[in-house]
Amino acid sequence: MFNFILFGPPGSGKGTQSVRVAEKYNLTHISTGDIFRRNIREKTSLGLKVKSIIEKGELVPDELLIEILEDAMDRAEDRHGFVFDGFPRTVQQANDLKAILQKRNEHVSLVLALEVNDDEIIKRLLKRAEVEGRKDDTREVIENRIRVYNNQTQPLIEYYGRNGTFASVNGIGSIDAIFNAICEKIDARN
Ligand code: AMP
Repeated sequence: MFNFILFGPPGSGKGTQSVRVAEKYNLTHISTGDIFRRNIREKTSLGLKVKSIIEKGELVPDELLIEILEDAMDRAEDRHGFVFDGFPRTVQQANDLKAILQKRNEHVSLVLALEVNDDEIIKRLLKRAEVEGRKDDTREVIENRIRVYNNQTQPLIEYYGRNGTFASVNGIGSIDAIFNAICEKIDARN
């Protein structure tokens, strides 16, 4: 199986590219952000628990992620692996993912980071706010999400760098050009 983590700051295009990667390589796309947004929309108990956290741009506590992830992986149809989009976001989550995969005799095959600078991210997210109206796309929350990313998620680059499973691509350019760059990295490792 090919277990792929698409990594990058908010607004780096992870969601868009993950969907394409999943389709091309027949992988199950798991977006923890999408799962949370669905639960908020449907007003489930999980949704009620995480709503205010997400609206502030903070991270949902690690212990809530494990169950969500295992559930999504269990429900996956028989495919060739997973694309993890927006997970892991902390070192604890990376350790949890490792354990979850180990239980299935699997491991992380490749971590790919989309590189986009802060100015571009803010520009993109403010634009997305106009189009999609996401509650966590206000300037104040965007700035917090970037801070949270830099403090809590960026350390994962070093974490995965040590295992030799890490690569990066420039996340600025056309969606097609970035997708091709991602596929090249995948094909080189697959
Ligand atoms: P995203 O769509 O990936 O940007 O996620 C939107 C929001 O959901 C994030 O800002 C977090 O509040 C929450 N979230 C999504 N994935 C995670 C995760 N792996 N760990 C903690 N919080 C998460």
